[in-house]
Amino acid sequence: MAVPQNRVTRSRRNMRRAHDALVAANPNECSSCGELKRPHHVCPSCGHYDNKEVVAQAQEVDLDEDAA
Ligand SMILES: [Zn+2]
Repeated sequence: MAVPQNRVTRSRRNMRRAHDALVAANPNECSSCGELKRPHHVCPSCGHYDNKEVVAQAQEVDLDEDAA
């Protein structure tokens, strides 16, 4: 098994981790439904992109108890 040749000091370890912070998401408002969505992505709630519906949304289906 590979073994590190030198000890990584707290300073060097922390300098490496200085770039590891997570950045907050930057959501935009959907122009058709107003829901928050990721920029440059299809809106997950209404399926629109660039004010056009690109993903058909499934209709709410009522399941009858005696249909099966
Ligand atoms: Zn939307």
